[in-house]
Amino acid sequence: MTADEFRKYGRAVVDWVADYWDRVESLPVLSQVRPGQVREQLPDRAPELGEDFHAVLEDMDRIVVPGLTHWQHPGFFAYYPSNASGPAVLAELLTAGLNVQGMMWQTGPACTELEQHVLDWLGGLLGLSDRFLSTGDGGGVIQDTASSAILVALLAALHRASSGQVTREGVASGRFTVYTSVEGHSACEKAARIAGLGAAALRPIDTRADLSMDPDALRAAMKRDVAAGCIPAMVMATIGTTSTGAIDPVHRIGPVCEEFDAWLHVDAAHAGVAAICPELRWVHDGVNDFADSYATNPHKWLLTTFDCDACYVADRDALVGALSVLPEYLRNRASESRAVVDYRDWGVPLGRRFRALKLWSVIRWYGATGLRAHIRHHVALAQQFAEWVSGDCRFELMAPHPLSLVCFRLRGPDEVNRQLLEAINATGRIYLSHTKVRDAFTLRMAIGAISTRDRHVADAWRLICREATRLRTE
Ligand SMILES: *Cc1c(COP(=O)(O)O)cnc(C)c1O
Repeated sequence: MTADEFRKYGRAVVDWVADYWDRVESLPVLSQVRPGQVREQLPDRAPELGEDFHAVLEDMDRIVVPGLTHWQHPGFFAYYPSNASGPAVLAELLTAGLNVQGMMWQTGPACTELEQHVLDWLGGLLGLSDRFLSTGDGGGVIQDTASSAILVALLAALHRASSGQVTREGVASGRFTVYTSVEGHSACEKAARIAGLGAAALRPIDTRADLSMDPDALRAAMKRDVAAGCIPAMVMATIGTTSTGAIDPVHRIGPVCEEFDAWLHVDAAHAGVAAICPELRWVHDGVNDFADSYATNPHKWLLTTFDCDACYVADRDALVGALSVLPEYLRNRASESRAVVDYRDWGVPLGRRFRALKLWSVIRWYGATGLRAHIRHHVALAQQFAEWVSGDCRFELMAPHPLSLVCFRLRGPDEVNRQLLEAINATGRIYLSHTKVRDAFTLRMAIGAISTRDRHVADAWRLICREATRLRTE
């Protein structure tokens, strides 16, 4: 592809994306294809001769778009939001065009330094203390996902808990245990398995009435384990659980971790970015005082395209100690001078994308004021929605909803709620997902798509009520 061809098709692609955003509301939010339908439309073999790029764009419209669930749809209320903002998408293009591989400072100094700097900016916006910034003993790094952040936190925790023995000899050198609440993310178990501890090392801790981790139950479990000869390596607290948005009491979990010398990782993948608003900063209570590591995903609710997880550690030596391997072919003067950071030592892959560009671009485009307005808008919409639910005696709210996620259900059997969810999603106008709250089938309304306006939430509520009425009268 020549530069001129690239210019021509590049303009077509930018137009295509802008048109997609303009028309996404008219598409069914939940894809209507059946399994295999996308592949049936694709040729069996790769083309022998090259094709025009327009053929790709045509197939985008014909095959790909109908085979998608549209996360940018204003009626997307399932799982968690995934914002594609203009500045983030444009920066993705810059990242791809440069295709710098930022494994070490030397292989792209700006890639490393921009990442350090933008994560310090974001840390400042989130109210993280100097412990987590690059100016102290810690620092931030962009991981692909929250799952990776949990994994590297666990590896650093095992390194520290064993004074480096795990890093040299493996996990057989002790019986290590890991703790998270029963509502904690499944990525914690996955990390325990990948780290070689096995799922049995995971201790699911009971929750209190508000579905947050019970610190007394945590302490009791750790005490039992220590008495049985185990070594508590890591506790994962959650700020905004995936299921209901529960916020663990980090300020009470922290002292328990200190008592047992366990690493405290705070998983704030979805909800942490709310702390950009001063009135919501309470969600971080205890993080600055107690956390060893903390991660939030700007790729969920903070206008940054997937993937971008902002991961912070208070002691970068533990992380680097766990992950650094230095073969001869990577030796270089900059690294040896110790004046630079080599991010290859801060995560699983060696090679790294230049992700800082999109976060930089997003923060500069919106400014702190714009980012706060974005968060506040969705929180206000969720509060309005929750008010409607609580004002209708057919429904019940199932969990606290201080941010943008509202868990609710029709009073009555699970089966009715399952039917309600199916009926709602079959309309193609909105898409909600579900969870179980204290064993009861519950609908989740997660507000946060960039295109969602007041009228979309009002329409959603009307549609939910209409389907509920229909179910009751059938
Ligand atoms: C979304 C989410 C995760 C997993 O996120 P990935 O970035 O996809 O790995 C983990 N924990 C919480 C609380 C989440 O909301």
